[in-house]
Amino acid sequence: MRVTQPKVILVGETRIIEDGLQDYLQHIGVPHWETDAPSDVERLSEVFGRLCYRSFEPGLNPNVTRVREGNAKYLGHVLEVGHGSVIEHAVLNFIFADVSRVVTHELVRHRAGTAVSQESLRFVRLEGLSAYVPTHIRESEEGMEVFVKTMEQLEAVQRELAKLFQIDQEKSFDRKKKLTSAFRRVAPDGVATSIGWSCNVRALRHIIEMRTAPDAEEEIRLLFGMVYDTIKDRYPNLFGDYEVEVVDGLPWMKTRYKKV
Ligand SMILES: Cc1cc2nc3c(=O)[nH]c(=O)nc-3n(C[C@H](O)[C@H](O)[C@H](O)COP(=O)(O)OP(=O)(O)OC[C@H]3O[C@@H](n4cnc5c(N)ncnc54)[C@H](O)[C@@H]3O)c2cc1C
Repeated sequence: MRVTQPKVILVGETRIIEDGLQDYLQHIGVPHWETDAPSDVERLSEVFGRLCYRSFEPGLNPNVTRVREGNAKYLGHVLEVGHGSVIEHAVLNFIFADVSRVVTHELVRHRAGTAVSQESLRFVRLEGLSAYVPTHIRESEEGMEVFVKTMEQLEAVQRELAKLFQIDQEKSFDRKKKLTSAFRRVAPDGVATSIGWSCNVRALRHIIEMRTAPDAEEEIRLLFGMVYDTIKDRYPNLFGDYEVEVVDGLPWMKTRYKKV
């Protein structure tokens, strides 16, 4: 077996279509409006927020005589008052590689604001097994022995079944798929796999809070600590309010503005 660590890869993010934004700004009479947002994700969130009250500049809406200047101040206020729908517009796209089915089962429980494409173990045949080894087992010599031995036995089972059913000689893809799906039933929950996962910023904040907390499972805590590290400097005005406390060797991201 191969011992792995989860990998977080940010593969996509929301981008503004400049001509489109300019059309809208022109339409409401502020073609010169600009902001100091560090990213399109933050700029778009600000635009949708300001759209609600036409608060791009004082007087544009006669009811508005003062506006908050700057992206950091503006989004800081959105988080403070919990105007969370504004930050649903921008979406980040991740691939989580070498995560266990333990993690993917837990991840897909988050339904609101997410999209999922999971590596199919009906189609992708398991050969060698890879797995993340949790701390309690990793730190025990005997525990490690049992873990590795079991994984190796399960690898052998995959090879034995492949040989028994002569899957490599099989011509029908349909039968290969059925056999592959049958073989995976004796694979462990800890088997490393990949999942494509997209999430809007509002949902992501909620999930970071829930899944880095000390009562969450070790591997998903590790994963979402890595997610946070990947995005915190890229989108500082949307994720800069977190404090980090290390509990049981893993970071716990805490904020005053929970579940906005
Ligand atoms: C430490 C821990 C232990 C857990 N243990 C278990 C367990 O033993 N068994 C188990 O089954 N699950 C368990 N879970 C999963 C948990 O119950 C949730 O399903 C999961 O965390 C998804 O979060 P969420 O409900 O906030 O949903 P999300 O989809 O992330 O939704 C975000 C928010 O949107 C709102 N929302 C979403 N969908 C709806 C809806 N249909 N109706 C109304 N409001 C909605 C809610 O306010 C929700 O909090 C555990 C989670 C954690 C963090």
